[in-house]
Amino acid sequence: MYGVEPLKYDVNALEPYIDGRTIDIHYNKHYLNYLKKLNALLKEENYDFRYSLEELVNHIDIFNLKNRDDILYNLGGVLNHGLYFDNMSPKASRSPVGKLKQAIDNQYGSFETFKQKFIEKANKLAGSGYTFLVIDKQKLKIINFPNQDTPYEYGMIPIMTIDLWEHSYYLKYQNNRALYIDNFFNIVDFDTISRNYEKNI
Ligand code: MN
Repeated sequence: MYGVEPLKYDVNALEPYIDGRTIDIHYNKHYLNYLKKLNALLKEENYDFRYSLEELVNHIDIFNLKNRDDILYNLGGVLNHGLYFDNMSPKASRSPVGKLKQAIDNQYGSFETFKQKFIEKANKLAGSGYTFLVIDKQKLKIINFPNQDTPYEYGMIPIMTIDLWEHSYYLKYQNNRALYIDNFFNIVDFDTISRNYEKNI
């Protein structure tokens, strides 16, 4: 079985920007459900867990055709939520450090410009999905994907994400998704994101 990525802070720790009830339901119900469903499908396939979650994205063809879509969908749900919960923290650098700082300055001019572009992109997503910062052919890219699509399907490595499904914010923000997106930058964990970059560049 693939294991759960532990939540590294208390459910209330991101208040006032994300309320404890939202994190509790999102992590304990939504995220864990993706993991449960994925493990159940893999059990049905007698899968031997030879790949990491990230590698498995590009080996879906080892499974029976009838299960492939479900496996990929739930695998995306596990990977995307794992990154999302891990790239927030009550206490962390709120701007990039080290090599990621250099890369963002080189590519976007400044962190402020990058942040503006990320927020613009997130506000453009229609329906359910995520905005990601990915590494694509050694370059950074801000990109939206719908539903539980994962950048790994397209050869990109996600290092930062915001979940834009309504369950991420609706209890507190209702229709004000733009404010949830702005506030994400008050709880974003750039120590972790910068490490994700250095591990994969
Ligand atoms: Mn979610």
